[in-house]
Amino acid sequence: MQDYIIRATAGNGSVRVFVATTKNLAGKARELHQTTPVATAALGRLLTAASIMGATLKNDSDIITLIIKGDGPIGGIVATTNNQSQVKGYVFQPHVILPKNNIGKLDVGGAVGSGTLAVSKDLGLKEPVSGQVALVSGEIAEDITYYFAVSEQTPSSVALGVLVDVDYSVKQAGGYIIQVMPDADEAVLAHLEKHLPTLPSITTLLDEGNTPEDILALLFEGHDTVIYDKIYPAFACSCSLEKTRKVLLNVGLDELKLILEEDKGANLHCHFCNTDYYFDEDAIQEMIAGIEKQ
Ligand code: ZN
Repeated sequence: MQDYIIRATAGNGSVRVFVATTKNLAGKARELHQTTPVATAALGRLLTAASIMGATLKNDSDIITLIIKGDGPIGGIVATTNNQSQVKGYVFQPHVILPKNNIGKLDVGGAVGSGTLAVSKDLGLKEPVSGQVALVSGEIAEDITYYFAVSEQTPSSVALGVLVDVDYSVKQAGGYIIQVMPDADEAVLAHLEKHLPTLPSITTLLDEGNTPEDILALLFEGHDTVIYDKIYPAFACSCSLEKTRKVLLNVGLDELKLILEEDKGANLHCHFCNTDYYFDEDAIQEMIAGIEKQ
C-alpha cells in the first residue's frame, strides 16, 4: 500500500483527525540510515508524526522540525517536514541494540531516555515559532501529546507505531493525531476517552489489513466522520552535489586554501539522508581558481 494520510473531522467538527500509513517512508529511512530495530522504530515514529504535522502547514516554504534529545543510548532524533509531508530525518546513534521492554516491545523509551522535545515551525516569519517540553516517556507519541497540550494548548491524542519484521525491514508503520476543537461535543470526547484505550495498537490495526479510512471508522464508531483529503507523504532529502558545492564555496578563499593544504580534499556529509559528497584536490583547486578569477 502507498503511504498516505487522511485529513478528517468527526462529531460535527468537534475534533480534527489525521490517520497515516507510513510503511514506505519509515522503510526508506531504515535503508538510508541502516538502523537497528529500536532505532528504526524511534525514527519511523518521529517521521510519521512529522509527516502528519506537515499536513497542517499552509505555504510551500513552511517547515516544521522536531528534535528529541535524550540521555539514552540513541542520543537524539531529528525529523523535518514541509507542507507536502515530504519528510527527512535521522537518529544520532543508528546502531543501538537494546533488549525488548517489559511488554515485549522495542524499547524506544529506553533508547531515548530523559530529555527534551523541541518543535520549531518556520512559517516565513522573522523568527521561527518554537516550543520545548520535557520528554514524558521517550516513546514519542506521549511526548508529542504533551507538547500539543503545553505548547499549543491543544488537547490531543497521538498514536505512532512502527512494526519491525524478523528480517529487520519495516512491516507496518503509521499513526494518528486527534485534536479537540474549541466547543467540541462532550459526547464525542467521552466516547474517545472510553474507546481509545480499548483499541489495538495502530500497527496491529494496519497489520490486520485496515486502511486509514477503516481506522478512522473504528476510532469514531459512527460519530459523523468526514474525510476532506488525502496527502501522500514520502522520505525526501533535497541535498545535491551542486548545493553542497555552494556550501563549500561559501566558506571563502582562505578557508578553501587551508582545506587544500591540510586535507587535500573535503568530505561533506548530509545527516538527513546519510550521503557523503567528496571533493578531491582537483575539485578544490578548481573552486579556488574560480573565486580568484572573479
Ligand atoms: Zn541529504
